[in-house]
Amino acid sequence: MIRLYNTKTREKVNFEARERGKVGMYVCGPTVYNYIHIGNARTFISFDVIRRYFMWRGFDVTFVQNVTDVDDKIIARAAEEGRDAAEVAAEYTEAFIEDMRRVNVLDPDIRPKATEEIPAMIELVQELVDGGHAYEADGDVYFSVRSYPAYGELSGRDVDEMESGHRELRADGQGVGERKRDPLDFALWKAAKPGEPAWESPWGMGRPGWHIECSAMSRKYLGLPFDIHGGGADLVFPHHENERAQSEAACGCTFANYWMHGGMLQVNAEKMSKSLGNFKLLRDVLDAVRPEVLRFLMLQTHYRSPLDFSDERLAEAEAALGRIENAVRNLGWQLENAQDAPSPLDTRALMKRAKEAKVAFVLAMDDDFNTCRALGEVFDLVADVNAQTAGKVLSVSDVPIVRDARDTVIELMGVFGIDVAAAGEGDAGEAYPVEVVDLAADLAGYEGADAAEAVDALLTARAEARAAKDWPRADAVRDGLAGLGFTVEDTPQGARVSYEG
Ligand code: AMP
Ligand code: ZN
Repeated sequence: MIRLYNTKTREKVNFEARERGKVGMYVCGPTVYNYIHIGNARTFISFDVIRRYFMWRGFDVTFVQNVTDVDDKIIARAAEEGRDAAEVAAEYTEAFIEDMRRVNVLDPDIRPKATEEIPAMIELVQELVDGGHAYEADGDVYFSVRSYPAYGELSGRDVDEMESGHRELRADGQGVGERKRDPLDFALWKAAKPGEPAWESPWGMGRPGWHIECSAMSRKYLGLPFDIHGGGADLVFPHHENERAQSEAACGCTFANYWMHGGMLQVNAEKMSKSLGNFKLLRDVLDAVRPEVLRFLMLQTHYRSPLDFSDERLAEAEAALGRIENAVRNLGWQLENAQDAPSPLDTRALMKRAKEAKVAFVLAMDDDFNTCRALGEVFDLVADVNAQTAGKVLSVSDVPIVRDARDTVIELMGVFGIDVAAAGEGDAGEAYPVEVVDLAADLAGYEGADAAEAVDALLTARAEARAAKDWPRADAVRDGLAGLGFTVEDTPQGARVSYEG
């Protein structure tokens, strides 16, 4: 039974799907006026892992994520650059999709764009007007917060307190929308201003308010109530509070059964944000590290907790992931080189261990997606398998059990969207330092540019040198590799190399 923390009830609850075996998820997407930073990426990666876990547990997941491609910030950016708002939005939408794929976030099943869903939004606004939950004022349409008694429940705010806060502001002459009947009310539709994108509506030319798009799209593509609504914790208020008010006021039903919110990624205990200027773009970080490393770093913190980002933590994540990848690579090599000999292993213990690890992984993930604990289980399995197999020549009779243990590691890391098998299939060259290519050119006459091939060439050169009793040359290869962080080990099946980074 999957349990998850529901923001609305502020407790962990059993997840009960609306429809047996199916999950409908809506996760608010980005406003496309810039490249996304790693704070944004954290939220999207967290929900990608949650989605992948549901899928792995056999649920049929429908994942919807909007793109906010009409908004004040996009209009402002376009004006700054003397460009069309649509052009700015199209550029950053494409960049967003590219960035998400690069960090191995699965594409949503449906990715609606606000500008393509205007009719659905107008329809919803009209329903709210007809139902007495919204009113028109000079071409704007506002949601009447007082018409929806449950307002404030999601974020734990008291409407009367909010109102008196507004009254104080009003005494200073600030914070009052002149056209609003009540300062708590918020815009569903905004009358067109010159030069801004605008669409025809029953209230004249205008454009949607920010919140209405998610209400319109989630109902259109998932139906109400759907299972899980997600986003970063900074969206709880006002965005999600307002989405909920609009949707529930219009349908008279529950909007989302579960609300999930991810913690903020921080730098020096401060939220990473575009406005603070303390952000790192995802694409810049990915130019320096492999996407798996960034995902791994994210997994080390529970999705609801704040995550402190630093280059040191990134380096630690790289080393830790490298240990798992190495173990998988070593096992692959041992499996390929198994001998017709008695088993050196306690195979029964190993078999049991792999099964136990999988169960423990499930328990951790079922407990509100505790990736940190689940990762610990994978590490423990790797350590135990290593302890049993390190430095041993496997018997062919061990192969199915050792392969099963290795495949368990690969499978569980795959749930996190991290392919550690790539490391075992020879693509590991990606993790090798590029200097090894030069070394191979010097010592082995290697002419290519592939790090994994370069290592193979060096090992061949060393074997040839040893056969010819050319010890200085053989040692030069070993020392050169050692200088780059490789260890060369001579085994009954020949020389093999491992890389610790
Ligand atoms: P925005 O484009 O600002 O609407 O943000 C897109 C997503 O990124 C939302 O789900 C935000 O909650 C999330 N987000 C923004 N900043 C951070 C941060 N520092 N850490 C985690 N998530 C964030
Ligand atoms: Zn939204």
